[in-house]
Amino acid sequence: MGSHGAGILLILSAPSGAGKSTLARMLREQRSDVEVSVSHTTRSPRGSEVDGVHYHFVSREEFEERIAAGQFAEYAQVYENYYGTSREVVETILRNGNSVVLDIDIQGGEQLMSAFPEAVGVFVIPPSFEELENRLIARSTDTAESQARRLASARDEVRASGAYEYVVVNKKLVDAVAKLSSILDAELARRGRMEGAIGELLASETKQEKTS
Ligand code: ADP
Ligand code: 5GP
Repeated sequence: MGSHGAGILLILSAPSGAGKSTLARMLREQRSDVEVSVSHTTRSPRGSEVDGVHYHFVSREEFEERIAAGQFAEYAQVYENYYGTSREVVETILRNGNSVVLDIDIQGGEQLMSAFPEAVGVFVIPPSFEELENRLIARSTDTAESQARRLASARDEVRASGAYEYVVVNKKLVDAVAKLSSILDAELARRGRMEGAIGELLASETKQEKTS
């Protein structure tokens, strides 16, 4: 990878249940310049999850082969399963000039932010832990044990989120998506990404210059 054209690597992390996959999906629905990276995982599909859409569901053996082959831009073990972002998925999206949203845990987020300093880290928090609990229960896709484990990790994840440049409180969904979209716009307007536009402007001529 390295330095990319117009697209941004937007790393979205949050305690489980805070709403990051919902936010990533809504951002993609609202913006044609955004794509969501589909991760590989060894966990089993939940409820209505579809292979290739929500995740690429693979066996532990296949995941380990992919690690050995260097296919992941980052990977981590989260709640006893492997999760990873394939280099190819990210590179393909960035090659198209689009930004890519990565819904990944903080271990993976930190790996990517050190490997790609131009990546942008956004940490999503719920308005309260009680609300987080309500959302995990409402989602009703995890076993009670899995919900309890996710809640127990939440406080540690929030404490460990210092490497993320931005924090978005997901209270009202529409407000949180709007904020996320503003962050992306601000990052896209950074001088370093606008050198091409500045170069084109400087290369252009006024009518007077063309005739003189
Ligand atoms: P994550 O990807 O962070 O684990 P999800 O996107 O699956 O979280 O969201 C967890 C649950 O909370 C889902 O049922 C989702 O519909 C709901 N949810 C997400 N954002 C909000 C919000 N702002 N207000 C109320 N419920 C929300
Ligand atoms: P879930 O099982 O709820 O889908 O995801 C559990 C956790 O794994 C979430 O924090 C999610 O962001 C994270 N995760 C999903 N995909 C990846 C990935 O490719 N890499 C890493 N490091 N974490 C991921």
